[in-house]
Amino acid sequence: MDLNDTPEQAQYRAQVRSWLEEHKSEAPIIEGEGAPTDPDEILAARRAWQGRLAEAGLAGATWPKEYGGQGVGPIENVIISQEMRRAGVPGILDVIGVGMLGPTIIAHGTDEQKGRFLGAMLHGDEVWCQLFSEPAAGSDLAAVQTRARRNDDGSWTLNGQKVWTTNAQFAAYGLILARTNADVPKHKGMTMFIVPMDAAGVTVRGLRQISGEAEFNEVFFDDVTIDSGSVVGPVDGGWGVGLTTLMFERLTIGMGGGYRSDRFAQAVAGDPAARRDSGVRHDLGELSAELEAIRWTGYRSISALQGGQIPGPEFGLAKVTMVNCAVKAGDLVADIIGPEALAEDGEFAYMISFLPGLKSAGGTEEILRNTIGERVLGLPPEPRLDKGIPFSELRAKEKEGAAA
Ligand SMILES: Cc1cc2nc3c(=O)[nH]c(=O)nc-3n(C[C@H](O)[C@H](O)[C@H](O)COP(=O)(O)OP(=O)(O)OC[C@H]3O[C@@H](n4cnc5c(N)ncnc54)[C@H](O)[C@@H]3O)c2cc1C
Repeated sequence: MDLNDTPEQAQYRAQVRSWLEEHKSEAPIIEGEGAPTDPDEILAARRAWQGRLAEAGLAGATWPKEYGGQGVGPIENVIISQEMRRAGVPGILDVIGVGMLGPTIIAHGTDEQKGRFLGAMLHGDEVWCQLFSEPAAGSDLAAVQTRARRNDDGSWTLNGQKVWTTNAQFAAYGLILARTNADVPKHKGMTMFIVPMDAAGVTVRGLRQISGEAEFNEVFFDDVTIDSGSVVGPVDGGWGVGLTTLMFERLTIGMGGGYRSDRFAQAVAGDPAARRDSGVRHDLGELSAELEAIRWTGYRSISALQGGQIPGPEFGLAKVTMVNCAVKAGDLVADIIGPEALAEDGEFAYMISFLPGLKSAGGTEEILRNTIGERVLGLPPEPRLDKGIPFSELRAKEKEGAAA
């Protein structure tokens, strides 16, 4: 692990910095003073900014050149994030599309799908959503019940419900995991599809969060017909395709920065009474030690990625630690500033109320800890009672278990 830029990386950093210096005045203000209040205006400004970043090679930079990326490595991607933070400009709008779904289509999609969808996604012209979770399939994602039935003409009909679908309210397309065969064990009977969000039979209903906004949704599919070219990867092989998305999700969330812990900590340290309180000093010390440890773990992971490794379960550790630190730091701010910390126009209200939700997003803490226990520490796996049993028989088994 070498923490210094190589001459090539230093040159790349200079190039990114100079573009951002020249163009940062075009970046939208998306929060705080001067930010527009009309959500459509914010959306349009963020789309346009993503387009500018894509043209400059600063969005989807790790994508291969043939699909509009720059083919750069993970370290260059980190350089872009660092320089954007330094310039104080927002990132791209469609983090889920460019960070997770685009790479899935690059890995498993047909040439037609790549040609049709990737460019518009990268430039923010068409935003995407991830239609995986359902009311009874979150941690146990392979339990999805949304069905896809193949019609005689090769098209497919979708029926079912998804939930927690971020950005579905303005997405043009979604990547949906649906059950295509219930007579085989649950991981083996799912298929991944591309679904236009304006197709007949798709209903999107916003879910309002405690933070005030409705950024994720319930999505209902009632006899939605999609054409035969919508299948991504093999029929009944959707689990493997989904794992690719989850691997990139791990990477996207694991690289997600400190979720403002540093800003929270500065606010606490800036309060003279809080500074004199030994309990607060102790809490701040503990937080900064954890964040420092995770920063070094992050450097090690990025070095491994640069060396060609795929994002492993250790990225889950980064997510658990960063989110927990940020929640603790937010609680400290709320303790010190008092109820005003949650005033609607305050600097911290949004993050303090939004952060606890991140404990579930991208895998809950318990699930990530299980994975780390099993795959990093080599502890015995959790008992899996549904192994080898056809999906269609699982409900009956559950009922038998409940009656016993
Ligand atoms: C901000 C946010 C954005 C999201 N965006 C999307 C999106 O765009 N697309 C999408 O598809 N999904 C999205 N999700 C959903 C997310 O992936 C799920 O919330 C997550 O997988 C957990 O599933 P669940 O909410 O159904 O909880 P459940 O799986 O029902 O879990 C409930 C509780 O039980 C615990 N638990 C479950 N199983 C075990 C076990 N085996 N061992 C120990 N404990 C267990 C969990 O840790 C949790 O505490 C989003 C969620 C959030 C919060």
